[in-house]
Amino acid sequence: IHDGRGAETQAEGEAGSMPGVLFAACELGVFDLLAEAPEPLGAAAVAARLGTSSHGTELLLDTCVSLKLLQVETKTGKALYQNTELSSTYLVRASPKCQGNMLRYLARTTYLCWGHLTQAVRDGRNQYLEAFGVPSDQLFSAIYRSEDERLQFMRGLQDVWSVSGRPVLGAFDLSPFPLICDVGGCSGALAKECTSLYPACRVAVFDTPEVVQTAEKHFSFPEAIEKDGKSPRTPFRRDFFKDPLPEADLYILARVLHDWTDERCSRLLARIHGACKPGGGVLVIESLLAADGRGPLTAQLYSLNMLVQTEGRERTPAQYRALLAAAGFRHVQCRRTGGLYDAILAMRYFLGFGVR
Ligand code: SAM
Repeated sequence: IHDGRGAETQAEGEAGSMPGVLFAACELGVFDLLAEAPEPLGAAAVAARLGTSSHGTELLLDTCVSLKLLQVETKTGKALYQNTELSSTYLVRASPKCQGNMLRYLARTTYLCWGHLTQAVRDGRNQYLEAFGVPSDQLFSAIYRSEDERLQFMRGLQDVWSVSGRPVLGAFDLSPFPLICDVGGCSGALAKECTSLYPACRVAVFDTPEVVQTAEKHFSFPEAIEKDGKSPRTPFRRDFFKDPLPEADLYILARVLHDWTDERCSRLLARIHGACKPGGGVLVIESLLAADGRGPLTAQLYSLNMLVQTEGRERTPAQYRALLAAAGFRHVQCRRTGGLYDAILAMRYFLGFGVR
């Protein structure tokens, strides 16, 4: 959990090392119950309302207090619990910044892959076969191994943009790019943030047919990203490694390159460069490693996460520069936001006129 301005509290770091406590408290609805209660509750009242054991509930609540996810005060010898600011902001379902869907996805999918980290390090590959019995030679067939799993993934991934969307989209002024295509844009959550930050821009989402179909069924998509009826009514339902890419002034690639090997990234970037309008560009949104690859810790953990769940890794600015330059992009600028995700803008030259 991160406040998007780079401030990580001690509690947040500790919570990261105790995911099971966080997952259980979220799944049981502890934070929602305490948010709805008119006053702080004792462990017995929490247990009664959640239908849980009083023994287990008391242990869980007190551990949440140590993790600074809850606060406790003792009145007439009785411990009464309430949410902290951290949990009120990020763990209560009614909060616009709630990360609950992501936590549910981490608990049910990511955490199970992490259970095979040792084997992933031995093998150098993701652990879908070990964790779920599904082959991953087609990566997204493993990630989307059922309709429900695809929906959980899409719900989970959109959460972060309520916190980190503005910092990454505001890292560069995108208003000179009237037509934007969010490649691998998933539920359309980042595209929505983009149109709200740049109301004059049109943002289209490009993703696989199944993802677009799920987005249309379960998310406010694509209507919410259409501006004045000018955006394409139908989002692009295609394969970005094979099918033609639409022409645009700017392509967004958010958390896409980190899924893939250098070879696949090069292929995708070259295809985007080929489709990009002269004077246009690409905005890569990823968690940047330090120049020497050692830190920040969050980016390193994400990189291990890519090992257990994808074919890719997190990269340093120099590694992204090299990939972008090889695809033909120039004038590469990297901006760290101080939050979870950073932004890299690279331009395609006007033919014969240099950089815009
Ligand atoms: N950009 C979104 C975000 O940051 O929330 C989603 C990132 S997710 C890690 C990668 C996205 O790429 C998914 O939405 C996935 O469906 C899409 N994707 C993967 N392979 C694809 C392909 N071959 N063609 C089109 N989209 C693809």
